[in-house]
Amino acid sequence: MSAIASNIAKIKAGLPAGVKLIAVSKTKPVSDILEAYNAGQRIFGENKVQELTAKFESLPKDIEWHMIGHLQSNKVKYIAPFVALIHGVDSLSLLTEINKQAVKCNRVQDVLLQFYIAQEETKFGFSLDEAVQLIASDAFKQLTHVRVVGVMGMASFTDNHDQVKKEFKTLKVYFDELKKQFFSNAGYFSELSMGMSGDYLFAIAEGSTMVRIGSSVFGGR
Ligand SMILES: *Cc1c(COP(=O)(O)O)cnc(C)c1O
Repeated sequence: MSAIASNIAKIKAGLPAGVKLIAVSKTKPVSDILEAYNAGQRIFGENKVQELTAKFESLPKDIEWHMIGHLQSNKVKYIAPFVALIHGVDSLSLLTEINKQAVKCNRVQDVLLQFYIAQEETKFGFSLDEAVQLIASDAFKQLTHVRVVGVMGMASFTDNHDQVKKEFKTLKVYFDELKKQFFSNAGYFSELSMGMSGDYLFAIAEGSTMVRIGSSVFGGR
């Protein structure tokens, strides 16, 4: 078994049923992705539009591609025809552009709303109040071709486990609150994307349904 295949097998053995592994392949060559693919992995995450489209074009078409990075509105059109899930939606203007491109492609685009849960200033995302205002707005109701299927967040990069757990708990509270207020009858609102190589076991303990794991699958970058 290749190193990548055995990494995937080990990680998957530790994931509860229903928790999906997003193999984060950013900066890694197509040959590494094929190794993971041949080990049965079908969901891959990338954080740059150009890299994502290039890999989409050269790899098998049954791969489910997730955009996990910060997405600029002017680049949505390049991934709109094929991307399965956009994790990092952090503004109404971005959501509006995603809707516009999805209409052109005759698709309904699944997205996650990104929340700001970390202590670091550099991380993107909504506060709970901002997200509630967005979803309650008339502008949001016009967006016929986007479907919010859940939330995403990144914990602080720290050795302080209690801090990380607290941040994941907060994201779960946000998820539950939005579910209650807006999506109680929407079975599709079900995804909680949280957890990376260094912290995914904490994220799972707090209710993650999607872990985004790069270096523990493919090695360091
Ligand atoms: C790079 C990245 C990951 C994966 O990080 P690792 O520490 O390599 O597992 C997960 N989520 C996002 C948003 C990323 O940019």
